[in-house]
Amino acid sequence: MIAEEVLFPAALEVDAQGAIPGSHFDLLAAEGFYGLAGDPERSGVEVGFPSLIRILETLSSGCLTTTFTWIQHYSVVRGLTGTANPELREKYLDAAIRGEVRGGVSFAGAIPQPPRLWAAATDSGWLLTGEAPFVTGWGIVDVLQISARNTALRAGQPTGTIVTGLIDAQADAGITVEPLHMVAAQGSNTVRLRFADYVLPAEKVTAEVTHSDFLANQVMSSRRSGCLATGVAERCIRMIDEVGRAQVAALLQAQLREIRNRLDAGLDDPETLPAARAAASELAYRAAGALVVAVGSAGILARQHAQRLVREATFTLVAAGRPDIKDSLLKVLARGHG
Ligand SMILES: Cc1cc2nc3c(=O)[nH]c(=O)nc-3n(C[C@H](O)[C@H](O)[C@H](O)COP(=O)(O)OP(=O)(O)OC[C@H]3O[C@@H](n4cnc5c(N)ncnc54)[C@H](O)[C@@H]3O)c2cc1C
Repeated sequence: MIAEEVLFPAALEVDAQGAIPGSHFDLLAAEGFYGLAGDPERSGVEVGFPSLIRILETLSSGCLTTTFTWIQHYSVVRGLTGTANPELREKYLDAAIRGEVRGGVSFAGAIPQPPRLWAAATDSGWLLTGEAPFVTGWGIVDVLQISARNTALRAGQPTGTIVTGLIDAQADAGITVEPLHMVAAQGSNTVRLRFADYVLPAEKVTAEVTHSDFLANQVMSSRRSGCLATGVAERCIRMIDEVGRAQVAALLQAQLREIRNRLDAGLDDPETLPAARAAASELAYRAAGALVVAVGSAGILARQHAQRLVREATFTLVAAGRPDIKDSLLKVLARGHG
């Protein structure tokens, strides 16, 4: 209902203005969506994983920009739930579950190789130096869960631990902010942050984990981010049907069903997940192209969903990307059809 009655009707305007109405996030908070990752015993909303996937896909089909910005919060709630820092949990978790405190994330010290953000230990915490090239939700979120790689050496090798902290999402001593101009999801307020001896006090640290422990948690998040692509594909297919191309829509729908199954199977067989994620983005990209063709030349006019969806499908090729997804996608895109 939210996707069809609120998000989708506003999606063209969100795209044109490059801004998401605050009322979208207030509604998601009021309806419990900020609590999806929360422990039900702490007023989180209990949904099974298949339902969560369906929710993410449905919201993405309504408005990718809103969904991408909101879904960053999921990791913040997970981080606060699992933190070994009880003071931080007590301070923020319940408000985060209710959506009164809203969060974003940066994995710049965890995912890129080499890491882009580093943490040097001090007597009272850490000093962060480097950059977070993509941080979504600036000016929208209140807090940022930020990861940085420990610079310490053990036997001449970096220890590789990943230090995660929860900081206020505001320009501060040691942080500079560069707005980014994107052709899709501009309303996500994605910025580049640069850190120069930024002080992360020990009391704001949520976790310090090994790189392999961090990667072990990536399977679920890759499955979740697949919903951005399947949501865009779903919307394109539906609109292809609406302009009278039922056969084309049915063919694409069958492919979408198969890709959803592959994504689900990837949870038990993580080595297959990157290829399934790549297939989802490739389908979104192809379905958006098919929608433009089905609509005709009018599809590239500024106030048409078709051109918006082409740009948003492109966004799903890279946003929440990982090196193995990138390799799979390049393989699929290079293959073509003779
Ligand atoms: C619009 C948009 C918003 C994003 N918002 C966020 C966000 O809020 N939080 C977040 O952590 N990531 C965010 N990302 C990063 C994204 O999740 C991917 O991890 C990143 O774009 C890597 O994809 P790539 O295809 O550029 O990777 P590659 O081509 O493999 O890498 C390109 C460069 O980006 C660096 N890089 C790779 N992964 C990341 C990463 N996760 N963070 C920073 N640098 C990286 C690599 O070191 C490399 O130098 C966003 C990306 C986009 C396009």
